[in-house]
This record gives sequence, structure tokens and C-alpha cells, in this order.
Amino acid sequence: MTSLIECQDIWKVYSVGDVEVQALRGLSLTIEQGEFVAIMGSSGSGKSTLMNMLGCLDQPTKGCYRLNGVEVGGLQHDELAGIRNQQIGFVFQSFNLIPRTSALENAQLPLFYRGLSLKDQRAQAAAALARVGLHGREDHYPTQLSGGQQQRVAIARALVTSPSLLLADEPTGNLDSQSSHEIMEILQALNHDEGITIILVTHELNVAAYAGREIVIQDGQILSNRRTKVFPPSSSVEVAPR
Ligand code: ADP
Ligand code: MG
Repeated sequence: MTSLIECQDIWKVYSVGDVEVQALRGLSLTIEQGEFVAIMGSSGSGKSTLMNMLGCLDQPTKGCYRLNGVEVGGLQHDELAGIRNQQIGFVFQSFNLIPRTSALENAQLPLFYRGLSLKDQRAQAAAALARVGLHGREDHYPTQLSGGQQQRVAIARALVTSPSLLLADEPTGNLDSQSSHEIMEILQALNHDEGITIILVTHELNVAAYAGREIVIQDGQILSNRRTKVFPPSSSVEVAPR
């Protein structure tokens, strides 16, 4: 079976004036459909660069990245946008909600780009908000919601298109520990109950502990890569009859 993500010898070099920054340096990585992976590493180690590349927001300078068996390197701008809209949800540290716009309208946005009817947009956005525990808050503006609730709206917006891959770059970085815990419970349930593949960047060990695999990045390379939980989960393995 094809792995969801296959990176082979990926390099990302940024040129700023005369200076070249090698943000990723020959990184290879495979992630299976249904995994929950935490990426850790100090500031500047290349975590966001890797996430942007995995999310088709950016292209590697060199190397091969396949998503669902499709080589992303050869695709045009609009093809990349199509993959993002069809397959990938993003959650960021700073929520990135549109101000003075209701929770429902924020969650609707990706569906607007799909050209869905307004009625379907609203119904699906309301269902996504309910999945993250925000039923009844549809009409609230971001300023009327706590940080944890705003991040839940952002997760609903990421989920509304039913992506197979959810990328979360330090989603709990701006949250208190109780809200962080709630966000991680939601992500864990999405992975466990719906089989959504999740890749999460975090600085915190107790946040990484929700994942089933921990990858540490240093200077644009993988320093360590280990499963912390059995994959696939044993509950899905058929027991042979006695
Ligand atoms: P992390 O998310 O682990 O903190 P980043 O991926 O943001 O690290 O950055 C990795 C390296 O690449 C850093 O040295 C950073 O300064 C550099 N970098 C990131 N984005 C850019 C950019 N757009 N232009 C130039 N350099 C960049
Ligand atoms: Mg970063």
C-alpha cells in the first residue's frame, strides 16, 4: 500500500541577499495514513519549513515529495491549491481567524472556495463546529471567544472539507494548559475515531505525548524518529479464531 507521505532527500534552501539558509538538509521521512505524529525540535530547526512543504504551501528546492503517491514537485500553482483544498487542513498557533466574522462564517470559508450552495456551506460548517464542541456559538465573533474556543473554530474550519491530513503547527503554543489539553483531546479523537492523519509541531512534551510517534528535527535533519504507541492500533487488528 502507498504511504500517505513519502519524502526522499528533501532540501530547502532560502536565499536572502547573499546569504543561503539551508532550512532542510537531505531529510527523508515516511508517514502512513492514520498516523498521529509529533514533530519537535528547537526554534529554527526547520519544523515550519517542513510543515509548509508537507502542506503543499511550499516546494522543496531539491528532492522528492509524494503525497498519496503523487509527486508534488511537478505540480502547478492551481494544482497545489486543489490538493490543499481537497486533502489538507491547517491549524496554526495564532488561530488565523478572520476578525469581525462569526464562527460559522469562519468555518464556512473553505466550502465557499468549493462553490457549495450557501445552505450546504452553513449546514456543514455548523456540523464541524458541533464536532469541536462549539454548538450554540455559531454567531460568536472571535473576540467573543476564549483562545481555546478560537482554536476550536480554526480546527472546525480545517475539518469542514473532510481532509485526510491535518497539519497543526504549534496549535497549543498560545493556550493555557487546560485549553491545550482540550485541543489535544479533540485532535486525538479525530485521529482515533475518524482516522485522520495528524502531524503536529510542538515544544511541549506533554502535548507530544498524545501522538503515537515522535520525530525530533535538528538543523534541517531528523535527529530521532520513534513510535511511542503501537501502529496500527491493536484494536483494529483482527484476532485469529481459536
Ligand atoms: P522552526 O519552525 O523549527 O522554528 P523554520 O522552519 O521556521 O524553523 O526555519 C528554519 C530556518 O529557515 C531558520 O534559520 C529560518 O530563519 C529560515 N527561514 C524560514 N523561513 C524563511 C524564509 N521565508 N526566508 C528565509 N529564511 C527562512
Ligand atoms: Mg516554526
